[in-house]
Amino acid sequence: MTSDLSFIEEYPEKIQPKIYALIEDGGIEDYLHDLYPEEHKILTDKALFTYAQDLRKKYMKKSPPIHKVVFDDGDENIYNALGLKDNELILFDNGHKIKNVMRISSIFKNAPAELFLMVVVHELVHIKERSHTRSFYRLCHLIDEDYTQHELDLRLFLISQGL
Ligand SMILES: [Zn+2]
Repeated sequence: MTSDLSFIEEYPEKIQPKIYALIEDGGIEDYLHDLYPEEHKILTDKALFTYAQDLRKKYMKKSPPIHKVVFDDGDENIYNALGLKDNELILFDNGHKIKNVMRISSIFKNAPAELFLMVVVHELVHIKERSHTRSFYRLCHLIDEDYTQHELDLRLFLISQGL
């Protein structure tokens, strides 16, 4: 898949040439590592569930519960966090809502800690807000105050992973 690079225009104008150069000449990984040196250690479904629950309890106490949070090896969940495509969070059984399930692509096991947080925040906020409304992004920013920057840098991360 050829990456859509239009997101670069969302970076401040003076650093756009640098971002193009990183993509063309390589060096995204070093750039991201300098910005986000910290790795996260969330590698199992159990750890992921705890991580998401802790965020929910802290910031979204009144939201519906999450029943399951899992890493997913399929390709289809990679772009969820960018709002390009979204999980079906709620499973239905004969029209009855049964479960809120969050799926996070396994590719993000390798993401820097801050970008991993952004991905989980995006999916978590969907438990409360189904679509990308203003209140959706307001809540994202409440939990992750650099959400917008992280979302941009997440695209660089995906490019660095060959996606
Ligand atoms: Zn979304």
